[in-house]
Amino acid sequence: MVVSKRIVLRFPKRITDRPIVYRLIKDYNLEFNILKALITPDKEGLMVLELSGKQQDYDKGINFLTANGVIIQSLSQDVIRNEERCTHCGACVTICPTGAFELDLITRQINFNNEKCLACGLCIKACPPRAMEVHF
Ligand code: SF4
Ligand code: SF4
Repeated sequence: MVVSKRIVLRFPKRITDRPIVYRLIKDYNLEFNILKALITPDKEGLMVLELSGKQQDYDKGINFLTANGVIIQSLSQDVIRNEERCTHCGACVTICPTGAFELDLITRQINFNNEKCLACGLCIKACPPRAMEVHF
């Protein structure tokens, strides 16, 4: 059976310089389409992939990634904002790699566009009053 899934890969900074994703093609016969990538040397990296292949190869490829320290999240996770907690401090605006937060120049409030969210989780740790929540 052939599967195709969209996943978020997070690379701890100690492995961002290794050609790990390339090996999914070479060693596991998988195909991928990079939808977004934000990899900076010496910092944590983030990549959103559409990964396809036979179920068996897919499972082996995922095991290979996790064994190499890559953190994998499914895009089916949903990130929401608890409006009662948000203080509109703006700490999330520069952290979000996809620009899901925007300052409204008139109201001075921070708008959250859930459709741009890739569920990378960065804003969850960064939000001082813990207004950002992940739902599975
Ligand atoms: S960091 Fe948290 S409290 Fe601050 S604007 Fe973003 S969601 Fe709201
Ligand atoms: S989880 Fe937060 S930081 Fe990550 S893409 Fe979604 S809104 Fe942006």
